[in-house]
Amino acid sequence: MNRLDGKVCVVTGAASGIGLRIAEVYAQAGGKVAIADLNREAAEAAADRLRDAGGDAMAVAMDVTDEAQVVDGIAAVVAAWGKVDVLVANAGIQIVNKITDFSLADWKKLLAIHLDGAFLTTRECLRDMETRREGGAIIYMGSVHSHLASKLKAPYVTAKHGLLGLARTVAKEAADYGVRANVICPGFVRTPLVDKQIPEQAKELGISEDEVVANVMLKDTVDGEFTTVDDVANVALTLAAFETNALTGQSLVVSHGWFMQ
Ligand code: NAD
Repeated sequence: MNRLDGKVCVVTGAASGIGLRIAEVYAQAGGKVAIADLNREAAEAAADRLRDAGGDAMAVAMDVTDEAQVVDGIAAVVAAWGKVDVLVANAGIQIVNKITDFSLADWKKLLAIHLDGAFLTTRECLRDMETRREGGAIIYMGSVHSHLASKLKAPYVTAKHGLLGLARTVAKEAADYGVRANVICPGFVRTPLVDKQIPEQAKELGISEDEVVANVMLKDTVDGEFTTVDDVANVALTLAAFETNALTGQSLVVSHGWFMQ
C-alpha cells in the first residue's frame, strides 16, 4: 500500500513548505520526483538532498504562470523519465488585503499562480497521460478556503474554490484513460507562506500576532493545533497511490476539524 515505485511525480512549488515535504515523502515511497519551482536554486538544493538520501529526483525551474516554461518543464521530465504519472499542482502564494484596497495587479497575480498554473501543468501532464493511457493522479493543493471564506483573502478564496471546479472537470474528462483528480484542503500549516501572513494580519486587524494564531487561524479547530506538512504529505501519498477511479473528483479536508463536510 501507498508505494509509488517507479512512478514519475511532478510537484510544483516543491522547493519549500508543503510541496517540499510531499516531494520527500514521494521519493521515500519509491517515486521519481521532479521538483518544479520558480526558485531554481532552492529546487536544485532540494533535488540534491533527495538524491543524497537515496531517492530519484530532478529539479525543474518553472514559473507555473508561464506557458512556455510549463511546456518545456514537463517536456524535460518526460524526456528524462519517459512519462508523468502524478502531478501535484501545489505552487501558491498569499496576499492579504481588504477588497477595497486590492490592486488589480495583485488580484491577477494570485489567480494566475493558483489557477493558470494549475491549468497549464494539468494540460501538459494530461497530454502525456492521454497518449499513454496507463492512468495517473492529479492532485490540487486547495485549502479550507476551497470551502469557506475569510476576510482579507478575496483572490485566494476565489482561486481555491476554483480548483474544485477544475478537479471535478478533470475527473470527468480523464476518467476514460484512468486518471483521477482530487483536491487536498489543508487548514493552517506553519510554512513560510503562513509565517509571512501572521504579522500582516495582525497589522490589518489591529490585534497581536498571538491573537491572529489563536483567534483567527486556529479558532475553529477541534484542538487549537496547526495542521503539519506531514499530515498533508501523507494524504497526498494516499491520493497518488490509490489505484481506482473510486476516489476521484473529491476534496479531502485536512484541518483539525476546522471545516467538516
Ligand atoms: P511556501 O511559500 O512554503 O511554498 C510555496 C512554493 O511555491 C515556493 O517554493 C515558491 O517558490 C513556489 N512558487 C510561488 N510562485 C510560483 C510560481 N509562479 N511558479 C512556481 N513556483 C512558485 O507555501 P506553502 O504553505 O507550502 O503553500 C503551498 C500550497 O499549499 C499553496 O498552494 C498554498 O495555497 C497551499 N496551502 C497552504 C496552507 C498553509 O497554511 N501553509 C494551507 C492551505 C493551503
